[in-house]
Parts: sequence; C-alpha cells; structure tokens
Amino acid sequence: MDKELLAMLVCPLCKGKLKYRREAEELHCLFDGLAYPVRDGIPVMLPEEARQLSVDEKLHDSPGRTGDA
Ligand SMILES: [Zn+2]
Repeated sequence: MDKELLAMLVCPLCKGKLKYRREAEELHCLFDGLAYPVRDGIPVMLPEEARQLSVDEKLHDSPGRTGDA
C-alpha cells in the first residue's frame, strides 16, 4: 500500500495513527484495539467493518517493535 496514503489515514474513532500489517492486510489501531480491513488495496475505515484485536496481536503491534514483516 502507498506510504503517503497510509500516512494520511487515521482511525475514524480516535483519530490516531494506524499501523499497517502487510501480512494481514489490515490497519491496526492500538488505542481502540481494532483492525480495519484493506480490500483490494482500499482501506475500509468503518468501525463496523473492523474486527477486535486479540491481546497477542496488540502486543505484537506495540510501539517497541518497528518491524512490519
Ligand atoms: Zn482508534
């Protein structure tokens, strides 16, 4: 996904930054613990379409980690 596009995207709920998980094709909001799907390269920024992140996933996404592999 386009890095510039990604930089413009914020969570519709908290307006916070999102973290793109390439392998899952999801945008994660750690604050809300939600994962927004990316369908055909188009981020679906709808809370009703998002799924809840598990505790493990939140840990994996935590700010201490920089890798996105
Ligand atoms: Zn959020």
